[in-house]
Amino acid sequence: MNWAERISPVVTSIPPSGIRRFFDIAAEMKGVISLGVGEPDFVTPWHIRESCVHGLHRGYTAYTSNYGLLELREEIARNIYNNYKVTYDPRREVLVTVGVSEALDLAVRALLSPGDQVLIPEPCYVSYKACVILAGGQPVPVPTALENEFRVTVEQLEKLVTPRTKALLIGYPNNPTGAIMPMQELAAIARFAKKHDLIVISDEIYADLTYQGSHTCFASLPDMRDRTILLNGFSKAYAMTGWRIGYALSNPDFIAAMNKIHQYTMLCAPITAQVAAVEALRHGKDKMEKMVAEYNGRRHLMLKGLRGMGLTCFEPKGAFYIFPSIRETGLTSVQFAEELLKTEKVAVVPGDAFGESGEGFVRCSYASSINNLTEALERIERFIKRLNE
Ligand code: PLP
Repeated sequence: MNWAERISPVVTSIPPSGIRRFFDIAAEMKGVISLGVGEPDFVTPWHIRESCVHGLHRGYTAYTSNYGLLELREEIARNIYNNYKVTYDPRREVLVTVGVSEALDLAVRALLSPGDQVLIPEPCYVSYKACVILAGGQPVPVPTALENEFRVTVEQLEKLVTPRTKALLIGYPNNPTGAIMPMQELAAIARFAKKHDLIVISDEIYADLTYQGSHTCFASLPDMRDRTILLNGFSKAYAMTGWRIGYALSNPDFIAAMNKIHQYTMLCAPITAQVAAVEALRHGKDKMEKMVAEYNGRRHLMLKGLRGMGLTCFEPKGAFYIFPSIRETGLTSVQFAEELLKTEKVAVVPGDAFGESGEGFVRCSYASSINNLTEALERIERFIKRLNE
């Protein structure tokens, strides 16, 4: 039987993740320094792991409510209120999910009808477009540029909005650029969303990893709470990628719609991770801030190192990525990443994996030790020097 012919054309139309491809190649090679994956190099703080172990000792091994443990939903709502002064009802407006990944998938599936358009500033996280397509929607990329610090403007959005536009999907601090949006500019986007009656999906998974200025929660902007689907999780700030735990906050009817899909497809997020997430929110701030301070030091190291070898490099303000321009080398981002991996064994992700406007850049994750980063910088410098010979 030819299984390839049986696969849904929607699935076939989606390219495999450009990040995973390089990760897989690098995993096969010896001596590679990987700046490829966006994953903290820290182990989840011990007190968080311990709370999970205690939970297991107490026999917490069953399903939870589809919405998630009420205790966790209460902590999430309290945390959002403490940070941003936005109020959510933990019983009806919070859904605990299997990572932000599931929350994103549920959000677009619950929102979109076939052909609905979603404006997505680019470069962007690789899953955004794929999830929209899988939900039957049509992603509409909004290119951003280094010259404008990778910020999206209302003028650009106005040019691309149509009667079919249903939502705007944003992610700040941004993966892969590390860009943030100042509050005034986000407020202008909020007015645009209101004017065109759009829903805003705001992926704020890197909110706690903001190094310059403070993070603006999109739902905290005037009139935006009831127009926003706010997504966040534990993977990045608490070094909990493998626990698979995230959440969505929104209008109760919409959360119920997301939960309708979730209850049939996922049932609930793992109880072990939910118990640990309660501990993370209650007592994890100090450890988290220490990790953030460490990332900040690495950010400075990478910026100085990459600029020092002559690459034009935007100073990232959040997340743990840096996105140097490699246009000057005359190579495409894929050629650059392939040659660098082959000759110097450093894995980076070609910028085009994050959309067309990512071409001419590569993404380096600095969620790696200072020693690794220093060695990687030396290798990249050697590579650039050879290109210039
Ligand atoms: N959103 C962004 C912007 C990400 O970079 C990632 C992971 O890299 C995710 C969502 C997925 O996060 P989670 O581990 O919570 O599913």
